[in-house]
Amino acid sequence: MAHNILVVGEMADGAPTSTTLELLGGAQGLAAGGTVSVALLGTGASAAAAKAAGASKAFVSDDAGYDAVKAEQWLAALEAAVDQAGADVVLIAQSSAGRELGPRLAARRKTAVAMDCVKIEDAGGLKFTRPAYGGNAMATYSVATSPAIATVRAKSFEAATGAGASDVVQLPAAGASRTNITGREKAVAAGLQITEAPVVVSGGRGLGAPEGFKAMEELATAIGSEKAAVGASRAAVDLGWYPPSQQVGLTGKVVNPDLYIAVAISGASQHMAGCSGSKTIVAINRDKDANIFGFAKYGIVGDWKAVVPALVEEIKKAK
Ligand SMILES: Cc1cc2nc3c(=O)[nH]c(=O)nc-3n(C[C@H](O)[C@H](O)[C@H](O)COP(=O)(O)OP(=O)(O)OC[C@H]3O[C@@H](n4cnc5c(N)ncnc54)[C@H](O)[C@@H]3O)c2cc1C
Repeated sequence: MAHNILVVGEMADGAPTSTTLELLGGAQGLAAGGTVSVALLGTGASAAAAKAAGASKAFVSDDAGYDAVKAEQWLAALEAAVDQAGADVVLIAQSSAGRELGPRLAARRKTAVAMDCVKIEDAGGLKFTRPAYGGNAMATYSVATSPAIATVRAKSFEAATGAGASDVVQLPAAGASRTNITGREKAVAAGLQITEAPVVVSGGRGLGAPEGFKAMEELATAIGSEKAAVGASRAAVDLGWYPPSQQVGLTGKVVNPDLYIAVAISGASQHMAGCSGSKTIVAINRDKDANIFGFAKYGIVGDWKAVVPALVEEIKKAK
């Protein structure tokens, strides 16, 4: 069935984010003869529309009033875009902005939202799949009302490539907001973010000391600093061994890499909620009964102090 799909875009450095391009790629596959549009709001939106591969139409406003995502202002613009696009499906990134906008947009339109989806397919109607019970099961939903709204994890679709939107429609400038953003703090992490990295090496409490994370960084560097980033369990973060910005899990970040290497992490459900969508999980743990082995495709039972340096050596040799 054909669908008119609106992607709620986000921007970084004057271009649509990689997740926005992935949503556009997914929308192209699902539209089945319908239209794919993107909404881009804030400084540089018109220029970013030209880079929004996969969208035929862009709804934009360059008004700086949209630069910080304030739900009231964004929702007014998004509702206008939904109406003008005739959208029966709205895709939003499972980002901090998306987590706020998805449910609010659904409430305004008296429709349903499927949060944190990792797969959307057309199987006699759209089916939205997301992890449930802390990642221990997958739940599939269909939405009976329109528009069907979904927030989608990064890396759930292949990014769209090619030309950006040729048809650009202006949306009104940002209206008044009862919310005021008083300051911003930049995340500590420099370089590749764990949510973007194709490979995440995460360390847990079993590293025994903050110095253990040096070994995690060495492993990430050996894999390639352009593709691997270092994450941590909450236990390790709570001990002050690694910054909170790198925490993976229910109360941390959700990562969806091609490869997730869990070192000295037990695999508690709250941790797995943040990484169970990884394509391949490798676990290194000295306890053969550790929960993490139930999720891992490859497991190494052993002391990380012996295993990780050996792995680093082998990776260096293989390069
Ligand atoms: C509401 C709530 C939210 C939470 N949110 C999160 C979250 O977002 N993220 C998160 O991670 N946790 C979260 N937790 C905490 C979670 O329940 C676990 O306590 C935590 O994930 C455990 O971290 P860990 O696996 O590093 O430590 P542990 O459970 O202590 O596991 C350490 C592991 O290291 C292994 N080990 C020890 N020494 C070695 C060695 N030398 N070599 C190899 N292996 C070794 C052990 O066998 C063990 O499996 C949350 C909990 C609650 C209640």
